[in-house]
Amino acid sequence: MKTAKIAVMTGVNTPFEVREYPLTEPAPGMAQLQLVASGVCGTDVHIHRGKIPMSMPAAIGHEFVGQVTALSDKDSAESGIRVGDYAVVDIACPCGHCPLCRSGDDANCLQMATTNSGNPDVPPHFYGGFGEYNYSPVKNLIKIPDGLDPRMACVYACAGPTALHAFRLAHEADCQVEKADTAVVQGLGPVGSFAVLYLRSLGIPNIIALTGQKQPDRQELALRLGATEVYDLQTDGEEKILQRIKEVSGIGADLVFEASGNPGAIPQGMAMLRNRGTYLVPGQYSNSGTVPIAPQLITFNALRIIGSSQYSVSDVEHYLQFLLDHPEVQETIGEMAVSYHVEEINQAIEDAAAGHNKKTIIVL
Ligand SMILES: [Zn+2]
Ligand SMILES: [Zn+2]
Repeated sequence: MKTAKIAVMTGVNTPFEVREYPLTEPAPGMAQLQLVASGVCGTDVHIHRGKIPMSMPAAIGHEFVGQVTALSDKDSAESGIRVGDYAVVDIACPCGHCPLCRSGDDANCLQMATTNSGNPDVPPHFYGGFGEYNYSPVKNLIKIPDGLDPRMACVYACAGPTALHAFRLAHEADCQVEKADTAVVQGLGPVGSFAVLYLRSLGIPNIIALTGQKQPDRQELALRLGATEVYDLQTDGEEKILQRIKEVSGIGADLVFEASGNPGAIPQGMAMLRNRGTYLVPGQYSNSGTVPIAPQLITFNALRIIGSSQYSVSDVEHYLQFLLDHPEVQETIGEMAVSYHVEEINQAIEDAAAGHNKKTIIVL
């Protein structure tokens, strides 16, 4: 029987083990996919550090992009997905019947389950993102349209929908992001840099991108993706940056997008906003501690603060459509990826944690 490799997390801060398991026929409703590219996310680093508890051993990773290698004729006919298609795998399994699912908000399902992080000793073994194969429910596959390079599409496969979902919630709250004159993005990991790209596509005149420390690669990328100014807190200092935002906007930023994951960014972001400004907060994805804030700013500046966590299949579709609509950015996005094989998972996690790469991906 044919076998394939998967990187298995066996404990917090413990090196991953690369194991081999047999490839089986997918069960009804499931598809088998061969790895094209799978991103290492900040969330994976947090899981490995123990910031997000999980039972071990676990097949983690959630940014799998692959080529469909097997599914039943019935599932293929019903879904329109065929063997040979490329697809993004969404790990989210909303329950479909809780009050939030019933209201159409399945990203915030009260009983959200996921397809990944299973015990790889249990068939079909390949659950997460860090294997040469993956088995997922057919309904969790989003076909990559012809004309898009699947490896390029992997770069923002999680960060893109994460950012787009936050913008969708802002739109639903009638925040009129597209009318903003000045927007600030805090943090230039993949979620932040995608936010820059999206804001540029809306034609926002002033896009100010911020990092905590000097990160020349990421700062240069932000400028290429459409930021009009880039600062780092370490060199430029909080006061000077605040002053500059006031100068550019006259009244404070219309929109601040938090993508740093650093709790200290929250009081800073609140101080950058104008009256009735919008603060989008998708970046605080694990428990990194607490921070004092000045709640009076929320009241006196009548701030609109919108949190955003998971995304839906429709956000992944929106992301793929965004790439199709913006061919001019595809080359820059493709060049962001730094590739590792499954056997090199420990180096990949280490480099991702150290911020060495614009985007770390696992490939076949
Ligand atoms: Zn991710
Ligand atoms: Zn639900």
